[in-house]
Amino acid sequence: MATIVITEQINILRELQTLDAQLYALRRQLNAKPEQINQIKTVQQQLVQQAQAIEARYKAAELKKNQKEMELGQKEEQIKKLQGQLFQLKTNKEYSAMQHEIEGFKADKSVLEEEILKLMDEVEQVKASMAVERQNLKAKETETNSQIAVVEAEAQKLKESADQLTAQRGEIRVKVDPSILAKYEQILERKEGVALVPVRAGSCGGCNMLLPPQLINEVHMAQRLVLCEACARILYVVDAAS
Ligand SMILES: [Zn+2]
Repeated sequence: MATIVITEQINILRELQTLDAQLYALRRQLNAKPEQINQIKTVQQQLVQQAQAIEARYKAAELKKNQKEMELGQKEEQIKKLQGQLFQLKTNKEYSAMQHEIEGFKADKSVLEEEILKLMDEVEQVKASMAVERQNLKAKETETNSQIAVVEAEAQKLKESADQLTAQRGEIRVKVDPSILAKYEQILERKEGVALVPVRAGSCGGCNMLLPPQLINEVHMAQRLVLCEACARILYVVDAAS
């Protein structure tokens, strides 16, 4: 009688194991989805940072240009002021000293003008690449957003399939003897979805360890659940030749 029961139970467990193998595979795929989404978001984040970096460069160049323009204005003021004072001077010596000073300011002024021209060029260039970068970012954002949507849709589909399988396994599960089911599910969880394995050419179909002939005999006799001594999975025989 025990023989019949164990054989029947094994047959039900085989059905269950088929579903569970699919279910674990689905869950593995499903569990990988958040990481896939994170990777896409990291790419997005990098692009945003690139755009921000170029914007910072633009602001810095603009600020420097404004400062130089202010300095230029001050130089011009100083030159004007000194030029106004020139006529009030009494001696030639004082006159030429001040003229010398004015020349110095004028030299400073042309250096500043030179620098401002370069900065204006820089501002223009950075502004142009900023526009390119923004457009690039926008396009990439559209692309990555649709990539995320695809992954999310895949995840949804996987979840639906997993739910379906879970419902199916629920129907089979109730046919298994509670203590056998408990054992099976415990192994299932520990062995990541593979609890029941066939004997294949005298070896365990789960871990490939060669099984002692006595143990294989017991599997054939089906009087109790026989576990592989190496991986602790439940063994069964597909046919008498196993
Ligand atoms: Zn094994």
